[in-house]
Amino acid sequence: MNLKYYMPTKVFMGEDCINQNKEIFKNIGRKAMIVTGRNSAKKNGSGEDVTKALTSLNMEYVIYDKILSNPTVISTYEGARIAKQNNVDFIIAIGGGSPMDAGKAIALLAAQDIKSEELFLGNYEDKILPLVLIPTTSGTGSEVTQYSILTNEKEETKTSIATELLFPVVTFLDAKYTLDLGLITTINTAVDALSHSVEGMLSVKSSSITDALAKESIQTILSILTKIHNQKENKTQDDKLNEILTFHDREELLYASCMAGMVIAQTGTTIVHGMGYSLTFFQDVDHGKANGLLLCEYMRLVESKEPNLVYKILNAMGYSQIEQLEKLLDSLLESKVELSEDEIILYSEKAFKTKNLNNCIVKPNVEEIKSMYNKSLTNLNVQKT
Ligand code: NAP
Ligand code: FE
Repeated sequence: MNLKYYMPTKVFMGEDCINQNKEIFKNIGRKAMIVTGRNSAKKNGSGEDVTKALTSLNMEYVIYDKILSNPTVISTYEGARIAKQNNVDFIIAIGGGSPMDAGKAIALLAAQDIKSEELFLGNYEDKILPLVLIPTTSGTGSEVTQYSILTNEKEETKTSIATELLFPVVTFLDAKYTLDLGLITTINTAVDALSHSVEGMLSVKSSSITDALAKESIQTILSILTKIHNQKENKTQDDKLNEILTFHDREELLYASCMAGMVIAQTGTTIVHGMGYSLTFFQDVDHGKANGLLLCEYMRLVESKEPNLVYKILNAMGYSQIEQLEKLLDSLLESKVELSEDEIILYSEKAFKTKNLNNCIVKPNVEEIKSMYNKSLTNLNVQKT
């Protein structure tokens, strides 16, 4: 057996886990920079829990709350400049995948000089500001991965910085921050996590450890997505989601998304993510939704060449056919994306060049990628998001 398993992040989970474990901040640093998006951390209580904990410990902090969805390279250089200016010695990133990924890149760039043209090349010194990550969506698993995925304007795609330096020292998972997450973001992020686990099982780097984590998270996520599907017909308003999902469901989703993160930390993601990046970059399709739109077609391709792999995944889902998953995802993700012939050619060539392709047990060629875009996106109800 040839196996590597590395997950150095200390995970605290539970209601009020920040306050209950706040002493740990003292072991990490002296002055923090809190990296967040513009609004959500202020509204869901996560920002306040962190600042209260730091204040009670007499620790200093500055706040950088300018991270937008799909963070840019420029915003991370700007964040790193402010971190250095303020002499902070650790980073606390709060939010969805966007602020968490930006926080990771900021921690790296504040500790060492890296030219922007070398940012994605992987040659880093062994230096980074320690990271504390607090997820407030249940999707990316960034709190337990070594990836920071940034919008790469130069290459017109999304590209990851991947280095073990980026593993956070600590993550706090408190589902109370996710209680007011709206219906669409809840679905899209859960589908991202589902895709992570499925793709993990389709990766050349999968193992029995990652498969066990993947199966567990797949079952949890699908049961909650099914619950949303069964009840959302009558309750499509964002503010009604609390009537569908209990606190326990929210905890389960956050836990499952973290497990799916632990999977991709070992396995990487596949061509599904590689293809999704163009939908996000060029068509502004949300990251999780992009994966959800493409996942079933890739499973079909795998099924045609390695049927047992897909059988294993369907078995974990309690399904016998890919169509059952497809029906659920179609109904949850609703709108589809229309692509022109030229767009499909461009996106397929880009996807074929992504590092994600190397992770695939079944590696599609460019024609197969085109066909997957075509079948996933163009033959259903056409509506640009
Ligand atoms: P996101 O872009 O971080 O956040 C989406 C939206 O949700 C934002 O408007 C945000 O508002 C809001 N939001 C966040 N938490 C909320 C809460 N608790 N209540 C209400 N609103 C909330 O979305 P995401 O799907 O979590 O992250 C996507 C990013 O992660 C992509 O860039 C993707 O490439 C990356 N990703 C990374 C990894 C990894 O391993 N590193 C894996 C998969 C995906 P604010 O802006 O106000 O905060
Ligand atoms: Fe993802």
